[in-house]
Amino acid sequence: MSYSVSLSKLLESIGAKEGSNLSVSSKDKTYIGRLMPHHDFSDGDILVIKLSSGYNVGIRIYPDSEVKVLEHSAPALKKEVAFERKEGRPNIVFIGTGGTIASGADYRTGAVRPALSASEMIALVPGITDIANISAKAMLSLFSENMNVEHWQELAKAVAEEINGGADAVMVLHGTDTMGYTAAALSFMLGDVPKPVVLVGAQRSPDRPSSDAPSNLTAAVRFCINGGAAGVFVVMHDTLGDDSFAVHTGTRVRKMHTSRRDAFESINASPIAFLDEEGTIRFTREKRAAASGKAAARTDMERSTVLLQYYPGMDPSLFEEIMMKSKGIVIAGSGLGHVSESMIPLIKKACGSGSVVVVTSQCLGGRTNLNVYNTGRDMLAAGAISVLDMLPETAYVKLMWVLANSKDAEEAKRLMMTPLAGEMGDRRTVDV
Ligand code: GLU
Repeated sequence: MSYSVSLSKLLESIGAKEGSNLSVSSKDKTYIGRLMPHHDFSDGDILVIKLSSGYNVGIRIYPDSEVKVLEHSAPALKKEVAFERKEGRPNIVFIGTGGTIASGADYRTGAVRPALSASEMIALVPGITDIANISAKAMLSLFSENMNVEHWQELAKAVAEEINGGADAVMVLHGTDTMGYTAAALSFMLGDVPKPVVLVGAQRSPDRPSSDAPSNLTAAVRFCINGGAAGVFVVMHDTLGDDSFAVHTGTRVRKMHTSRRDAFESINASPIAFLDEEGTIRFTREKRAAASGKAAARTDMERSTVLLQYYPGMDPSLFEEIMMKSKGIVIAGSGLGHVSESMIPLIKKACGSGSVVVVTSQCLGGRTNLNVYNTGRDMLAAGAISVLDMLPETAYVKLMWVLANSKDAEEAKRLMMTPLAGEMGDRRTVDV
């Protein structure tokens, strides 16, 4: 959908083109900004302009509204931007991987494509280059559903390289769908990383009116500069407005809504910190302090690992081949971590052949416990282990990492039950 016929005619009559700098007066308010392509989800009479702050606004045009062209040509969008580096300022590296945060809408088809370079993203954080030395790399251009284990490995190496090259913080611009998986993978691969590594995304692409990209990026930058925390985090909106941002531990976070700005939640833990719109940071628990030192990326992963969700009617014969081929099996069980009696012989067979079977709960909230009911005790007897309150996807990523970094299944099981990156609490922290 494009601008309405009357609005298109008006724009044509004044010679306004995409990128022209306009003054738009409507209902007693005047806005100045660059003309953007029409936003597909809004009415044809809503004119979209990009304000100098980087925000896009949609303005309804009435017959008495006034639209004037202030400047015809748009500055060319640079693919890479060079910024002046100043001594004493923190060095922050943006690594772009794609996703909505690094996307623009294709206005012919209405589809969103990962297109913008990471340095174009920098332009979305007003004033950032006055407070930090920023460099940007567009490493990947993927929607995050296409992220694979090799991408996590490549990313972990790139982050470690940046930190060892002098970065005080690394921000990873990432699609939101699988951001939790990547955050978990970086958490295990980077271990005690001495600096903040912050994943940040957006639910609305930067060229949309009311995109959450600039505010999420700004909050993430402020956390990198002023948080003084080391580790892997996800920074996203905490509320629907631009007034509160949550900092989630990378192994505890899940996208809980398909479209809301506040889609991300920490599960079985509170976010480690919150930022308000002024950038004030409030920690909810002790942080690991950022320090000098080197980063190391241990990126080996056991690829023959699967994540299965138990459901009533699950037919063991359909899963036999998968489970017998896999060295690691994570099951998101029901309730405290259960599967049907009919699945237990298969768990026993898989464990007997040397595989590690890890049980989590599809309830998400609370911890697993296989000692309460007979089903659980039978699962334990079959060789399964349960991992308290760990998210199923975090258990899947951790199992891949643990299997590749232990000498045998026993060591892998022990490591699965040991907190390595804040991924599990203990009996005292979670209600049964
Ligand atoms: N599905 C895409 C992704 O995860 C777009 C969604 C987003 O970035 O929010 O990259």
